[in-house]
Amino acid sequence: MGRIAIVTGGTRGIGEAISIALRDMGMTVVANYAGNDQKAKEFTDRTGIAAYKWDVGDHQASLDGCARVAAEVGPIDVVVNNAGITRDGVLQKMSFDDWNEVMRINLGGCFNMAKATFAGMRERGWGRIVNIGSINGQAGQYGQVNYAAAKSGIHGFTKALAQEGAKYGVTVNAIAPGYIDTDMVAAVPATVLEKIVAKIPVGRLGHAEEIARGVAFLCSEDGGFVTGSTMSINGGQHMY
Ligand code: NDP
Repeated sequence: MGRIAIVTGGTRGIGEAISIALRDMGMTVVANYAGNDQKAKEFTDRTGIAAYKWDVGDHQASLDGCARVAAEVGPIDVVVNNAGITRDGVLQKMSFDDWNEVMRINLGGCFNMAKATFAGMRERGWGRIVNIGSINGQAGQYGQVNYAAAKSGIHGFTKALAQEGAKYGVTVNAIAPGYIDTDMVAAVPATVLEKIVAKIPVGRLGHAEEIARGVAFLCSEDGGFVTGSTMSINGGQHMY
C-alpha cells in the first residue's frame, strides 16, 4: 500500500504486534519507544522495523521526532497512539506526580502526536489515527483514577478529532483493549489476575495480535467509512 506509519510504544507488547501487522499489510513502519534501548534493538533485529526514541509526553520532542521521521522516511500517513504507562494506587496514596505523569504520557501523547502529523494528513487528503484506550477508561478501575481518566479522555479526544478530519479523508478511531497478556498485565499480582480472568466471558486474556488486527483494519483503505468509533476488544468483559 506504500503508506508510512508510526506506532508509539511500538517496540514491545501490543505496540510490537501493531508494528508487525502494519508492516505485513505493506506499510513502511517506524516504531517509537521511550527508553528501553535493549528491547528496541532486539525488536529491530527481529523485525527489520526502525525504532526511534522520544518521549511522546514531551511536546517538542514529539514535534522533532515526527519531523525527523518525515525527513528520513517520508510523510506520515498513519499514527497509532499506543504508548502508555500505569502509576496505580488508590486516591489516598496516589501522588500528584503519578496523576500528572499518566495524563502527560497517555493523553498528552495523543495530542502531541496529532499536532505533529494531523495537518500533513489533511493536506494530503488521507490519514489514519488510531488511539489505544482501555476497558478501564470505559468502565473505571479501582486504584486507577489517573489511568482511567486519561484513557477515558482518549475516547473523547478521538470523537472530537474525528469531526475535524472527516471531510479531509482522515479517520480517527480508538480501540479499547481488555486485558492482554503483555508486560503491563504481567505486573498485576497473580491473585488479582485470576479474579480478572474469571470475569472475562471468553475465559482467557487477549493476545496482542488480536488488538493489532483491529488496528490494521482501521488503518486500511477498507476502514475509510469508520471514524470517531471505539472498537472494544475485550473478550466480552465490558459491553456497551
Ligand atoms: P507495555 O508496557 O508492554 O509497552 C509500553 C510501550 O510504550 C513500550 O514500547 C514503551 O517504551 C512505550 N512507552 C512508554 N512510555 C512512553 C513514552 N513516554 N514515550 C514513548 N513510548 C513510551 O504496554 P502494553 O503493550 O501492555 O500496552 C500498550 C497500550 O495498550 C498502552 O497504551 C496501554 O495502556 C494499553 N492497554 C493495555 C492493556 C493490557 O492489558 N496490556 C489493556 C488496555 C489497554 P519502552 O520499551 O522504551 O519503555
